[in-house]
Amino acid sequence: MRIGIDLDGVVFDTIGELVRLYNLEYDDNLQREDIKSWETARFVKCGEEIYRYFYDEAFYANLPLMDGVLEVMGRLDKKHELVLVSDTPAVGMVNRSRQLEKVFPVDQFRFMREKNIIYTARKDLVDIDLLLDDKPENIEDFHRTGKGWAVVFDWPYNRHLRNYRRIKNWWEFEELIESHSRIGALA
Ligand SMILES: [Mg+2]
Repeated sequence: MRIGIDLDGVVFDTIGELVRLYNLEYDDNLQREDIKSWETARFVKCGEEIYRYFYDEAFYANLPLMDGVLEVMGRLDKKHELVLVSDTPAVGMVNRSRQLEKVFPVDQFRFMREKNIIYTARKDLVDIDLLLDDKPENIEDFHRTGKGWAVVFDWPYNRHLRNYRRIKNWWEFEELIESHSRIGALA
């Protein structure tokens, strides 16, 4: 199976880092779970200013990883073709690529050796059998193509999405992939 994997909110705990920086700068006590829709600005005192973190190249240098991502991607990488698919802003691409090389060394991860890294906002154009993503729009757009399976990485801001497979962590994702590989079908 060719598996497309989003980065922010899936491989990296981007929201956790955003909330940490925001709380420091604005002296607030926001939790990741408080962000209940994609429009983060609605849940912070600084409004639209919150998005400026995403346009700071330093933000992408050392983002924390989601639990279990290294061990599970390590195992999936041996059985499936993994492709990173991310709408990373241009300003963050260099630091992001460097961090990916650091956390997924090329001698351990086939998808890094093969440079399966695609920076695009149009994930529906990518030739994959499955997309694991946290952004509602990406899930719906990919589903609409009929190319494959859209799987939601669970966050409070995407809980309104029904009728999609949803996983709460990387171990659940591995279980989903393994059980469907055994059955030999995605239906
Ligand atoms: Mg994302």
